[in-house]
Formats: sequence, C-alpha cells, structure tokens
Amino acid sequence: MFCNLVKITWYHKAIPSIFISQIICPSMQICEIFHSIQGEGKDIGLPTIFVRTVGCNLRCEWCDTKYAWKGGEEIEIEIEKIKEKLDEIECYRVCITGGEPLLQKGTLELVDILLPTYEVSIETNGSLDISKIVEKDLRVSMDYKTPSSKMDQEMREDNLDLLREKDQLKFVISSREDYEFSVDVLKSFDLRCDIIFQPEESFDIKELAESVLDDGLEVRVLPQLHKVIWGHKERV
Ligand code: SF4
Repeated sequence: MFCNLVKITWYHKAIPSIFISQIICPSMQICEIFHSIQGEGKDIGLPTIFVRTVGCNLRCEWCDTKYAWKGGEEIEIEIEKIKEKLDEIECYRVCITGGEPLLQKGTLELVDILLPTYEVSIETNGSLDISKIVEKDLRVSMDYKTPSSKMDQEMREDNLDLLREKDQLKFVISSREDYEFSVDVLKSFDLRCDIIFQPEESFDIKELAESVLDDGLEVRVLPQLHKVIWGHKERV
C-alpha cells in the first residue's frame, strides 16, 4: 500500500503540504506516457506502452529525446496514478524509458507495482549502477555509449557483468570508429545478453550489416523501426 495517511496525521500541520503529498503518495517526474510500437531491440515491432521519465545525467551528441532532459507534458505524477493511466490502455507490455529512468527513486517502486500485471522492460544509459534493477523480473535494455556520443567515458564497465541472458546491450553506431569500439567491447567482456548494433542516421545500415557478416559477429543489426514508420515525430 503506497498511501499511508494514518501514520502522518498527528504531525502533518508542521509539514508543508507539497512535502505531505510526496510522503503520502510517492510520485515521479514523467515526461510522457504513450502507446506505440517498440522500435528497438528484441521486442521490435510489438505494441508497447512507453513511460518516459524526466531528466538525464548524460548529454549524447545525437540524443533524439532532448525534450525529456528537463520536462514534458505530464511532470509530477503519483506512482499509483501512473499505473491507473496504463490500465486505461489495452496493452500488457510497458517500457520505462527516458531521459534516464534510474535517476528517479520511484522507478523501482513503479516496477514493483507494474510487474504483477505487465511485461516490463527498462531502458538505461549504462552510466548508472544497474545492480538493483537486475534483481527484478524484467528486461534491462542497456546502452553502451560509443565515441560519437561523446559520453563513452561515462560508461560503467561493472554493469556488463550484471546483464542476464534476457537483457540486451545496445550500441548506437555512427562511424567506423564507433563500430571498431563496439567490437572491442564485445571481445573484452564475456557477455551473456543479446547485442544490438543500431546505426545512427548518418551511418549506412547496409555497410553495418556487411561488416557484421564479414567479422562473423553474433549481434542483431536493427534500425529504429518507429522512425521507419513515423519519421522524426515525437511520442512514437
Ligand atoms: S542517455 Fe539517452 S536521453 Fe540521455 S542524452 Fe543520451 S540519448 Fe539522450
């Protein structure tokens, strides 16, 4: 039970109401909630509800969700209300994305409240500790930032050992340098999860596919399907 009004009643007059509402019902900063097709990774093509959190600790050069860094349409929502919003949509698959979802304390609580009803995945940028989230029965979709992002120095290598078979690791490849960097990471770590090589728009997917075949890599080469379908439209 998330709302515990009884316990705080005796001292509530001393606490500003904005803090009372957070004690009573934990909330999260949410940028947007929308129903679309999963455009990336192993669940590509499947109908999915996206919960996009506000805020990111990185500033990737080619970020396509800059609008999530600071705000969005929804902002502060109680976690139980997020679940209520999702329950209105006919879909049992939820992807928590960002921004960077692991920046918010409420994310683990949101996962716990969703798991009995939904198939949950979470997208994270690879710079924050994932040890708590891999204890949950969900799919972790982690990025490993390549040099073109200018965020490759922020990656936590210790996360790579934590990824399980059902998880996935995604490299966004924008140049030959990114490709070589990604192959080096694959050779340096004994990874159990699926690997996704996703070309950034400036990189030819055919060239990427042919390099993967030439080098005998066991990785999935995937475009961003939502951009194939809807172009650069937001909320898809
Ligand atoms: S981690 Fe994701 S949301 Fe954050 S800057 Fe990079 S691409 Fe954008």
